[in-house]
Amino acid sequence: MNRLLIIGPPGAGKGTQAARIADKLNIPAISTGDIFRKNIKEETPLGKEAKSYIDAGNLVPDSVTNNMVRARLAEEDARDGFLLDGYPRNTAQVAELDEILKELGQEIDQVLLLIADNDELVERLLGRAAEQGRTDDTEEVIRHRLKVYEEQTAPLLSVYRERALIQEVDGLGEIDDVTTRILEALKK
Ligand code: ADP
Repeated sequence: MNRLLIIGPPGAGKGTQAARIADKLNIPAISTGDIFRKNIKEETPLGKEAKSYIDAGNLVPDSVTNNMVRARLAEEDARDGFLLDGYPRNTAQVAELDEILKELGQEIDQVLLLIADNDELVERLLGRAAEQGRTDDTEEVIRHRLKVYEEQTAPLLSVYRERALIQEVDGLGEIDDVTTRILEALKK
């Protein structure tokens, strides 16, 4: 079954790869960052609540994020598989995801860890900032997001490592090559 997570630091290319892999496997790519950005754009209550945290490069409070993910995973299209991008992002969210999936009678099959070194990440994010003008892509906020990843998200990898679910993939190089690497890793 394809119930997958993709984890990696900001700028590692998770969003790009998630869309391609999900397409290939015929499952929905569920990106918490995308859901938040859509809500911010549409000025929904959820968007209004999340905006200040996102602009500062901090995590949105779990109380908001958990409910959003719970509702999304319960939707029909996610019943037979999904690729979750951007969640869980701290150890409390790992526990919450376990609970959500338990209620659905499901479990995670594999966790993709996309890696790239810090200098490359900052360079990519600054490039994207210039192109897209995402409001959380200023240099100061980028450095803060990398710190948040190291402090809050990286520790949860040990949980999935203990469960022997992690497949590590090098995120450097051509986008197509990275996609090929991921698809290979998923066969393991
Ligand atoms: P990136 O991969 O570049 O860090 P995302 O699009 O995944 O960007 O996320 C953008 C922002 O959305 C994060 O910096 C954070 O503020 C918020 N966010 C996304 N997912 C979560 C989550 N699981 N918990 C809390 N905040 C989140």
